[in-house]
Amino acid sequence: MSWPSAPEFLAPLAPWFDRVRRELPWRAADLEAPHPDPYAVLVSELMLQQTQVATVIPFFTRWMERFPTPARLAAADEDAVHKAWEGLGYYRRARFLKAAAGTVADEGWPTDLQGLAALPGLGPYTAAAVGAIAFQWPTPALDGNAFRVLARLLELDGDPKTRAADLRTWVAPALAALGPSRLTQALMELGATVCTPQPACGRCPLADRCGARVAGRVAEIPPATRRAQVRSIELWLLAVEAEDRFLLHPPAVRGLLAGLWRWPTLEVTAGDAPGGPPPGLQGWPGWTQVYTHRREAVRPLHLQLEAGFQEASGLRWMPRTGLAALPMGKRDQRLRDLLRTPGEAPLEAPDPQALLSRLRADGAPSA
Ligand code: SF4
Repeated sequence: MSWPSAPEFLAPLAPWFDRVRRELPWRAADLEAPHPDPYAVLVSELMLQQTQVATVIPFFTRWMERFPTPARLAAADEDAVHKAWEGLGYYRRARFLKAAAGTVADEGWPTDLQGLAALPGLGPYTAAAVGAIAFQWPTPALDGNAFRVLARLLELDGDPKTRAADLRTWVAPALAALGPSRLTQALMELGATVCTPQPACGRCPLADRCGARVAGRVAEIPPATRRAQVRSIELWLLAVEAEDRFLLHPPAVRGLLAGLWRWPTLEVTAGDAPGGPPPGLQGWPGWTQVYTHRREAVRPLHLQLEAGFQEASGLRWMPRTGLAALPMGKRDQRLRDLLRTPGEAPLEAPDPQALLSRLRADGAPSA
């Protein structure tokens, strides 16, 4: 490995960051000292996993008003925590954050990287980022953006993540020399605002020494990764109503959708009526919901029953007045919002038995 000395090579990043840094509600004014509120750093880092800065800002502000300390978050009701996270997605992060807050409230903050990494939900990257930004530890936090920046600077071929250990060893002395919090955030900022997949090299403080730029190889470093296959399905999203109550799936204990209430769904198969729902339903215009591995063509439908109906297994009747307080994912929030607006005209006579028997047969919903 014949890489240049990191403290000298990365030195222009520190004054550049002091000049261009964005004011963010979790960012400390003094980057030389430990952060006055490590909990704010922890919350922001968990929220920023998979979510853009601009989206996180209002959530972070509301969250800190509602749960201003680890102890307040640890003592909060789980439904209230999920509700406050509603709209950020990847709800597992909210549960991890609450669990980590519980450990910190009981035992205090860990005193080393190993202790931080043992907190629920903190992988090696988040633990290192919290260590550097909250506590000024020289712990290299390399996320996808940082790997892209370093691969270009050092003109690395292949996937830079396979060189993670070498890159962490290389960066660590620069953190110690230039300030762990400052340099960590400078690398993040460069990756997020300048050295993006289509970089603005003209604005880069490291342009004169960037290996990929000098060699004219910016477009090929790092190499494009193959995208996961996306499965497309069509489904009916059902608001089944009787006596001012709605049928819902209560939250699962584990998995991606743990903690969230969900409307029942039926996947449309080749045997279903072409182009439309079964009779007896009101509907609204549909939309496409995109997840990492799945694209759903969603048709939101409302079925009103004359009288109460025995619950299908795994479903529960919930009063209309309680719907607004239930934590739901984005797709299900959307149907909840639609229930406040009139749908299309009912289609023919209802056949609830046939539909609900399919909900029973369907078992666990697809989501
Ligand atoms: S010069 Fe361009 S490619 Fe190199 S680090 Fe700067 S922005 Fe990225």
